[in-house]
Amino acid sequence: MQKLLVNIKELFQVRASSEQPVYGLDMKDLPSIKNAWLLIENGCIADFGEMNSLPALSCEQLDAKGGYVLPTWVDCHTHIVFAASREEEFVMKIQGKSYEEIAASGGGILNSARKLAGAREEDLYEDAAKRLKQLIALGTGAIEIKSGYGLSLEAELKMLRVIKKLKENFALPIKANLLAAHAIPREYGSNRNAYIQLIVDEIIPAAAKEGLADFVDAFCEKGFFSPEETDFILKTGKSYGLRAKIHANQLSISGGVQVGVANDAISVDHLEEIGEEELLSLQASRTIPVALPSCSFYLGIPFAPVRKMMNANLPVAIASDYNPGSSPSGNMNFLHSLACIKLKMLPREAINAATINAAFAMGVEKEVGSITKGKLANLILTKELPSLEYLAYSFGENCISKVLLKGEIF
Ligand SMILES: [Zn+2]
Repeated sequence: MQKLLVNIKELFQVRASSEQPVYGLDMKDLPSIKNAWLLIENGCIADFGEMNSLPALSCEQLDAKGGYVLPTWVDCHTHIVFAASREEEFVMKIQGKSYEEIAASGGGILNSARKLAGAREEDLYEDAAKRLKQLIALGTGAIEIKSGYGLSLEAELKMLRVIKKLKENFALPIKANLLAAHAIPREYGSNRNAYIQLIVDEIIPAAAKEGLADFVDAFCEKGFFSPEETDFILKTGKSYGLRAKIHANQLSISGGVQVGVANDAISVDHLEEIGEEELLSLQASRTIPVALPSCSFYLGIPFAPVRKMMNANLPVAIASDYNPGSSPSGNMNFLHSLACIKLKMLPREAINAATINAAFAMGVEKEVGSITKGKLANLILTKELPSLEYLAYSFGENCISKVLLKGEIF
């Protein structure tokens, strides 16, 4: 099955190969071909070039009508499986209620966990599938999804089975991340070690045995999991073939970056608080730093100092952190704008962060993240725009004309 995309005003993120992420100082460059065509064969990118070298093929043609073509967004950090949205908390925060007051009236991770424990797997799947469809329509073409609202053996496995079913039913790369170490459940309040023991003795082995997880994660933060506990959980995950990917340094310099690097984490995510030692540790690793600006935006906490990381030549990625409590949006177009406005990334730097570098941060760099022969034809076609920078500038405007997954219009 062949399909030829023609009259592309400019084809962006064109790379002959993608053996490595794009490092900080190179992130401003987004290689492109002006006035281009692109050939899709069996769902993959087969070839591309300038319109004056258009191949004479008698296959289906799709006219880009002067729009741009980019690889789809890669969202390398989400929590899209959850039982209920939390807009009551949103309103309470606006009214000035404290975290404790909100938790007492049914907010927070532990309350998400309580709701999830009572939810049916089929309902969780239907809701998550609905969210995923919305995200694909907004240009997301690969996604990482975490468990972590289960916080018991049964409920964590239930969440991971929902992710497995999403993998089976959707035509985009999906990675499952076991985040049982998201919080200590209420019933273990005075005996946190018993919960950590449950994670390493039962939850990780069971998830690995059923082939339900690709990664293992922990929320390494004061009041959640210490660096030592995180290390124990990551090492156990590794012994079951799960690569580490962690939440670190959201609220304080937690030691999480170093624990992630020591465990060869594929990424360390959040990084709102980061010092010289963390930068040095990341420079000596192949771990991708992932910033989550919509979480900072929504909570009103500091933004990750991404320019500092890029000046240190780190291959920064960005992700939505879509979750019901601290980032109730997975709109990567808005995230692209936010990265420019709040993280001071140039629009092209933010595109590298949300495509190729994000692909490395979730281990799908061979499938997506750039316009490279052999990769999936997961593509965004834009409307006719005055410039590529207009995409980030006109925040909130829908600039997408079509989204293709494996060459098929979604
Ligand atoms: Zn998260």
